[in-house]
Amino acid sequence: MYPTELENATVITSRQKVVLSDVVFDVGEIGSRFFAELRDGPRIMGVRCPVCLKIYVPPRPTCAGCFEPLSDWVEVSPEGTLLASTTVYAPVANPPAEPPYTLAVVRLDGADTGIVHLVDEVDPARLTEGTRVRAVFREAREGNIRDIEHFEITG
Ligand SMILES: [Zn+2]
Repeated sequence: MYPTELENATVITSRQKVVLSDVVFDVGEIGSRFFAELRDGPRIMGVRCPVCLKIYVPPRPTCAGCFEPLSDWVEVSPEGTLLASTTVYAPVANPPAEPPYTLAVVRLDGADTGIVHLVDEVDPARLTEGTRVRAVFREAREGNIRDIEHFEITG
């Protein structure tokens, strides 16, 4: 059963490229809200644990530490901090971009967890832990993770 506010919502079945596959999947209740907010805001939303107050971005149905159900939605900043990155030079099946490209873990301001996405930089000197980045949203958004085109370095 969906919560009342989602009963009349359009169910999103998202077709997204994952790093090494091209799969179609139902993103579920939590993913539907997350991707609808990306598409319609664009806003990046997380969920807060009512017990430990940890904020998960991307959102998940239960807290990894407390196992509490999560339904307290909070908006986080489109700006954040680079936690880790890797630059891919070799061709792979279904790449998210033409090599070379960088995949990074970004902790958005207001969140306690990291989200994996592209950063439009391949210079390792500019991809150090703690580098500040900002989400760049697509103009024409479709309700999937690629509504964030990439992250760009801000400082
Ligand atoms: Zn918790």
